[in-house]
Amino acid sequence: MTSSSSPSPLTPPTASRSRNMAAIKRRDTQPERAIRSLLHAAGKRYRVDVRMELGGVRPRPDIVFSRARVAVFVDGCFWHCCPEHGRHPRTNSSYWGPKLERNRTRDRAADEALAAAGWTVIRIWEHEAPQKAAERIMMVLNTVA
Ligand SMILES: [Zn+2]
Repeated sequence: MTSSSSPSPLTPPTASRSRNMAAIKRRDTQPERAIRSLLHAAGKRYRVDVRMELGGVRPRPDIVFSRARVAVFVDGCFWHCCPEHGRHPRTNSSYWGPKLERNRTRDRAADEALAAAGWTVIRIWEHEAPQKAAERIMMVLNTVA
């Protein structure tokens, strides 16, 4: 009998795992899909995977309403340091600390660049109920329309 020790999810990624994680990150997350289908069911039309370039900052919102200039980010609790679930891992904190801090800095830069360009930014935590999140988005869409 062998005891297989599966690598901890908090182990710093090797090159191949890093590619893997990038792929995972790009793929639509489940909450994102749920929110999109609620918006779609409500007759809202949006764009996804929009690449923006705003003065050197490249925000990648998850859901974009171009005409209303509303950009929605559905943030993973871990990657974006959610106050409820985004505790910095104690394991390999020297690796994750700066990495997560960079994410936070990038999030703030994206928010500021979008706001400066006249966009309304909505950030949703992946732990939020999709129904509530979709309602929040639609409320904002109503106010900016
Ligand atoms: Zn969370």
